[in-house]
Amino acid sequence: MLEEAEQLLQEYFGYSSFRKGQQEIIGNILAGNNTLGIMPTGGGKSICFQIPSLCLAGITLVISPLISLMKDQIDSLNALGIAATFINSSLSNLEIKERMAKTCEGQYDLLYIAPERLQSKEFIAQLQAADISLIAVDESHCISSWGHDFRPSYRLIPKLISNLSNQSVVTAFTATATKEVRMDISDLLGIEEENIYVTGFDRPNLKFNLISGENKKDFIAEYVDINQDDAGIIYAATRKEVDQVTSFLKQKGFSVGKYHAGLSNQERRIVQEKFIFDELKIIVATNAFGMGIDKSNVRYVIHHNLPQTLEDYYQEAGRAGRDGEPSECILLFHPADMRLPKFFIEESNLTPQLKERRYQKLQKMIDYCYTSKCLRGFILNYFDNQQLIAGCDNCSNCNEEQELVDITTEAQQILSCVYKTDQRFGITTVACVLKGSKRQKILKLGFDQLSTYGLLRKHTIKEIKDLINFLIAEGYIRLTNSKFPVTKLTAKAKPVLAGREEVYYKVRKKIKRITSQNSLFSILREFRMKLAKKEDLPPYVIFHDSTLKEMAHQKPLTKEAMLEIKGVGPIKFQRYGKHFLEKIKKFALQETAKQEVATTTDNPSHLISYNLLQEGKTLSEIANLRGLAVTTVQNHLVRSLREGFDLNLDLFISQEKRGLIKSKIKEVGAERLKPLKEALPEEISYFQIKLVIFANNN
Ligand code: ADP
Repeated sequence: MLEEAEQLLQEYFGYSSFRKGQQEIIGNILAGNNTLGIMPTGGGKSICFQIPSLCLAGITLVISPLISLMKDQIDSLNALGIAATFINSSLSNLEIKERMAKTCEGQYDLLYIAPERLQSKEFIAQLQAADISLIAVDESHCISSWGHDFRPSYRLIPKLISNLSNQSVVTAFTATATKEVRMDISDLLGIEEENIYVTGFDRPNLKFNLISGENKKDFIAEYVDINQDDAGIIYAATRKEVDQVTSFLKQKGFSVGKYHAGLSNQERRIVQEKFIFDELKIIVATNAFGMGIDKSNVRYVIHHNLPQTLEDYYQEAGRAGRDGEPSECILLFHPADMRLPKFFIEESNLTPQLKERRYQKLQKMIDYCYTSKCLRGFILNYFDNQQLIAGCDNCSNCNEEQELVDITTEAQQILSCVYKTDQRFGITTVACVLKGSKRQKILKLGFDQLSTYGLLRKHTIKEIKDLINFLIAEGYIRLTNSKFPVTKLTAKAKPVLAGREEVYYKVRKKIKRITSQNSLFSILREFRMKLAKKEDLPPYVIFHDSTLKEMAHQKPLTKEAMLEIKGVGPIKFQRYGKHFLEKIKKFALQETAKQEVATTTDNPSHLISYNLLQEGKTLSEIANLRGLAVTTVQNHLVRSLREGFDLNLDLFISQEKRGLIKSKIKEVGAERLKPLKEALPEEISYFQIKLVIFANNN
């Protein structure tokens, strides 16, 4: 049976072997045992029930709370050639009836339903008529009231199981399960201790970064700019902060959308869809965003604020890199952030006992921000008592990416200013005194007479504030918990003021791109986008980023070589892979042509311009660099295009204008340029017209 499972894995999914835990779990299910699989996000839980669904005669019923994802999940399965469907509240009664009829006829391998369906007696009666071999409870922590995502209708699952007359095997899957939750799941679903498989919680492809005491907005702006091509989520604690970060990024011209409970369902749906379809690169959101996010190519998750628990943090951060590709989880920390989660706990309706538990959990989260040990080790130890002896080498504490700069003098000046202002003022006032500001408030208080007045006048107010924040983060200064927090010195400040200890500012090394640039990968990604639009599917349903990366790296030129790529099985090859193969072949041909040109003709001028464009230079940069007129560079690019080199027309002309030019070509022909130019709006240039003509001919 396992051999068959392995064959199906290759045939349908295009993967050559099972991952850690998958084989054991599938083997146990096929042996007829109720099974609980606890695997990290991205660990590959779905395959653990999808493969058995193909081996077993009857239907696999998947119960999942992720309604917004069901369509994508079913599209993905259908794209693989697997017969699957879903039933949830988004369908009409007629559609539900039709799908149920087909289910009873055994036309599907998998049927996905939302737990709320189980409240309908009629639905349960219909299910009884179907031949259900396997029940898979996805996100099974929702069954436990200890879990953070408790869903009351999950409690109806045990009843469903006992109502089904046949002996279906019951399986449950989750990523985050503490001991209490694990016990709840196994008790309620009748899963024996020996049938619980825990494959660990580690996500080796995720890099954990803690950025402490830095200006958050500056960091985010720099980070998203460097990683412009990649998708990311930025979590903020409140709607207000989501709004602020979104407009800040919008102003800077980034492709960004926001998501929080204050928006209408419609608005949220649109933003989520745009993000899933890669049309929006960045989502700024409260923790309302997430349960429904299965997008596999989220490359980074930034937390703008402190989450309340490590469970929340690991779950939210874990939305990065589900496809197993290197991805980053960044927590931006400032000690003042501790106030908000404390406030949330204080204001909640929890019993004193539960409040106490929440405080303990928050304390762990805070400890994470202050630990100097391996961040991954800290998380794994929390969830699993797992110790990482040597550290992970993939977190900001293990690879010390900081350079130390001695700021003892500035620190002494700041600490002394806090002292001289009687430890009664906030960050801004202290910064203004150090700057030597002439603000009314400063003069009125007589602070211009202080010896610290103007000591840091060479710095900007923002730089001084950043330094103060750094000293807060490092524990030299603390902020009071009052409505208008004021600065106080801590015991750590004394030795610095007395000249006995030095202070070092950690200058972070420059942010590096997560994904390295590769022109074939970009071509394949763009092609996938076009195909996805045509088929109305999220791009990653066609192929994951990891599959495209492997294609770009291996450059397969035959069907056999293409089938070696992870994620390309025979069915997907037929549907999509063969088109990607054509793109790769074309790219390889151009590469050879370029090499030949370079070796035989000393690299003609037009190809030098072309190559500079491919390296990311703009028209005017190329012209400047080469001492040529912009029009000459334009002619070079037109010639390259005519010779069959690929050119991204989006750089020079919008889709809309392209459509317009094409329609005019149909009317007046393309033999002569002038009549064409005259038939078009004035702002359309000869260069743009030529691009469309030659792109059409290619
Ligand atoms: P989870 O539900 O555990 O978060 P998924 O089932 O969505 O994870 O799987 C995560 C990714 O890993 C998907 O892209 C999936 O296709 C891929 N994957 C799963 N099993 C394997 C395997 N055996 N080999 C290679 N990739 C796999």
